[in-house]
Amino acid sequence: MTQAEKNARILEELARLYPDAGPELHFGNPYETLVATILSAQCTDARVNMVTPRVFADFPTVEAMANTEPETLYPYVRSCGFKSKAVNIVMAARKIMRDFGGEVPSTMEALTSLPGVGRKTANVVMAFAFGKNAIPVDTHVFRVSNRLGLARADTPEGVEKQLQQAIPEESWSKAHHYLIYHGRRVCHSRKPDCETCTLRSLCSLYGGDETADRKA
Ligand code: SF4
Repeated sequence: MTQAEKNARILEELARLYPDAGPELHFGNPYETLVATILSAQCTDARVNMVTPRVFADFPTVEAMANTEPETLYPYVRSCGFKSKAVNIVMAARKIMRDFGGEVPSTMEALTSLPGVGRKTANVVMAFAFGKNAIPVDTHVFRVSNRLGLARADTPEGVEKQLQQAIPEESWSKAHHYLIYHGRRVCHSRKPDCETCTLRSLCSLYGGDETADRKA
């Protein structure tokens, strides 16, 4: 079987396993997508979903967020970790007001110019706020795609580029969800549940290639 045939079969099986795969963060517009995604770094989606209703109620727009102070926002988001997240959210809102007319931008270049926004966050906003084809590479996507052999790279950006080659463009966003779901449910970081995994016959790591076990 060629690698391209393998990739197609992996995607077919992931689609069969996770037909309802989709965003687990709750958001409703580009501003909310940006805030929720910044908060989700090194924090569970469930925890973010617990704090965002109050954040969005009390700071419902980019302008409202730009007009507050990080110290005011921090108590709302404290349980999501670092104080820097509150600083980045307020500073990003101020930059959006100043440089983008109050509208969350939709390009990689503009999004990554915002404080606290790297490629992964930018890709999430592009995919789920603007419906663009994008593959955000988080720790699950990085680990599972390397193990399966869909990608072979040492950096999230390298994995993103290889997945863009390996997966048809219209499936990029969906594939990102499949890989996250599989990473959370079966292909765990420390102890992948290979004996129950229906992808084992297609998997590089299970097939004995230990160099496929990379972690971001
Ligand atoms: S066979 Fe094991 S390493 Fe490969 S994808 Fe499944 S759980 Fe992960």
